[in-house]
Amino acid sequence: MTQYDYDLFVIGAGSGGVRAARLASSKAGARTAIAEQQEIGGTCVIRGCVPKKLLVYGAEFAQSFRDAKGFGWTVEWARFDWPKLRDAVQAEVARLSGLYRQNLDKAGVAIVEDRAVVVDPHTVRLTHSNRTVTAARILIATGGHTWRPETTPGQQLGITSTDAFLLDELPQSIVIAGGGYIACEFATIFSGLGVDTTIVYRGERILRGFDHDIRAHVQADLERTGVRIVCGSIIEEVKALPERRKLVTLANAMRLETDQVMWAVGRVPNTSGLGLASAGVAMAENGAVIVDEYSRTNAPSIFAVGDVTDRINLTPVAIREAVAFVETEFMGRTAAFDHADVASAVFSRPPVGAVGLTEEAARAKGHKLKVFRTTFRPMKHILAGNEQRVLMKLVVDAHSDRVLGVHIAGVDAPEMIQLAAIAVKAGLTKAQWDATCAVHPTGAEELVLMGEPISHDNEAPA
Ligand code: NDP
Repeated sequence: MTQYDYDLFVIGAGSGGVRAARLASSKAGARTAIAEQQEIGGTCVIRGCVPKKLLVYGAEFAQSFRDAKGFGWTVEWARFDWPKLRDAVQAEVARLSGLYRQNLDKAGVAIVEDRAVVVDPHTVRLTHSNRTVTAARILIATGGHTWRPETTPGQQLGITSTDAFLLDELPQSIVIAGGGYIACEFATIFSGLGVDTTIVYRGERILRGFDHDIRAHVQADLERTGVRIVCGSIIEEVKALPERRKLVTLANAMRLETDQVMWAVGRVPNTSGLGLASAGVAMAENGAVIVDEYSRTNAPSIFAVGDVTDRINLTPVAIREAVAFVETEFMGRTAAFDHADVASAVFSRPPVGAVGLTEEAARAKGHKLKVFRTTFRPMKHILAGNEQRVLMKLVVDAHSDRVLGVHIAGVDAPEMIQLAAIAVKAGLTKAQWDATCAVHPTGAEELVLMGEPISHDNEAPA
């Protein structure tokens, strides 16, 4: 005796949507369908985290070959073949997308390869097959997409990160607009692969939102390794030149001739044409679906998780939001994902790992602080003659001794931060960190060996 075709209809088969659909079907027995208009896997698998990380690995070999000399190796005839790496990455992406499909099948989820548009709180229209289906609950998990500054003349001559994975050939030079995650990661990839790389960033220093010491460290190291960074300006115009060259004019009147331009100026939620307004779903100015802590929209049967809600736009967050949604709506356990102290990594050169409050954010919240900072050259880099250093910083509440934030830039930072995040999430104190014996010889041991603070507010809490 069911009123609807499905108990749950998920729109978007990315990280959040797939997890919700699989869990609802296999663990809660909900009759579930998932609609996807592109490849199954979403941004992370198809045009984000996975192919990006593989390209980062590919680009790292150049430095590894240089480092190897200090360890007695002679590396001759090292040649890079872009089509080989590109195609290998795409083959891996296709394999993973196939696995996602298999897992959905195994979980008993109906896969609908179509564009779904919300008609009303319980109805979805499939636009290619022109069918209508009904569901007790609809989950919007459509993610986001890259955008370009539409009003900038010549913007169409540039690419976005989505195109970068599929380039026919590697450019000899590239100008990247933006100073966030994607700009820094692709500058690392391109310059590592030998492309003459320039970042054009509108602010004073790249990686806004990260701790100021980390931003300075990464910017200096990218510059040291050959990335040109132009701050305080934006691209005003791109003009086509002969032989597919481009002339980029900046607002500061600087002119750059380049083979390629890449827009890495952020991402926007995928809600355009999704019918949400007609179903009465409230959205923010940038198109993000507005949800509460339980991922509920203002329409009682419509929910949203992941980048489309523009909370913290990271794959593991979308997955945790999806799990909490299914537990609450289908498994009788009220669960909300706690968005505090989510760690993240930037796979730049050097890579960054960060969790918790930056020094600035902690002060803005009124904390009196003890700040610990260390910088060192990892053992491996010394024999290699590699000048890249590691920076580690602990932001500690002076009153409670609780470690509020950990910020690392340097080799293995993304791996280290996952473990440090456990301690920050658990609310451990600096004394508890110090009571933990070091693992020697590692870089990570410095995290438990930072003796004296570089600054100590030494006051009672505000
Ligand atoms: P970000 O928000 O990180 O960076 C966008 C950059 O573009 C910022 O430097 C921003 O400047 C700049 N910008 C925005 N608008 C304009 C404009 N009109 N003109 C010039 N510059 C502009 O976005 P990304 O696209 O790099 O990444 C999107 C999100 O995806 C990230 O925030 C993250 O959540 C996720 N992501 C995570 C990754 C990871 O976990 N490793 C990797 C890639 C993406 P300003 O700083 O001044 O605002």
